[in-house]
Amino acid sequence: MNLKHSLLEIQGLKVSIENSIVLNTLDLRVNRGEIHAIMGPNGSGKSTFSKVLAGHPVYNILEGDILYKGSTILDLDPEERSHLGIFLAFQYPIEIPGVSNENFLRIAYNSKQRFLGRKEVDPLEFLKVITHKLKSVEMSPLFLTRNVNEGFSGGEKKRNEILQMILLDADLCILDETDSGLDIDALRIISNGINEFMNDQKAIILITHYQRLLDYVKPTYVHVMQNGKIIKTGPADLAKELEAKGYEWLKYE
Ligand code: ADP
Ligand code: MG
Repeated sequence: MNLKHSLLEIQGLKVSIENSIVLNTLDLRVNRGEIHAIMGPNGSGKSTFSKVLAGHPVYNILEGDILYKGSTILDLDPEERSHLGIFLAFQYPIEIPGVSNENFLRIAYNSKQRFLGRKEVDPLEFLKVITHKLKSVEMSPLFLTRNVNEGFSGGEKKRNEILQMILLDADLCILDETDSGLDIDALRIISNGINEFMNDQKAIILITHYQRLLDYVKPTYVHVMQNGKIIKTGPADLAKELEAKGYEWLKYE
């Protein structure tokens, strides 16, 4: 690990899917200790960006590079990226019928333990690890025995994503609209979980449409993405301006 480098450096990234360009000369630099909010109209490429970072195989990288901890990760598969500390919380978390949440979380945890050369934990030891983390997102232990996300409400699915992030102790977390569809209590719980988790060694990229999340989780920078690139970057207050004025005015800047 080279501490001189930014945690993440995106250089001139150009990405296509099915013959359309969805990310176009995207540049972004994220340092440890920073929270970056990415806002922007629907279809501007925000979810694509998050999936490309995580290593989703359907996208074609045409140009540019993604440097993580100083090295390119373009050749790494999603599992390797995850082991290196990249975590993506999905906009639409999937249900996995037939797999208990507890088994799913333990297997993920042990897979990372193995990668790091640490001891794997048995189910009983894991219960101690996870019980402590459940409290961070105010989830009942009952959610461990249920199948992954099956029948979970929208808010419960999002809390389960944050639980995974905390459990895997990721360094770079990308949260894709984790706040969408949450009621006020769930938003507060998730924000508390994020704030408790964040420290000066980590970085978080929050993709969101709403200022209200940013009232709880204060961003270092706010970016606006449009047509696959970042067209404006500003301080936390930019989100308030966007909430008041929308995105149209940026075209004339
Ligand atoms: P956002 O998250 O900002 O709303 P997306 O990244 O989901 O935007 O989408 C960006 C663009 O890429 C959209 O025009 C969308 O239709 C297109 N796109 C995303 N995934 C696919 C796909 N699998 N096939 C074709 N087009 C896609
Ligand atoms: Mg999206």
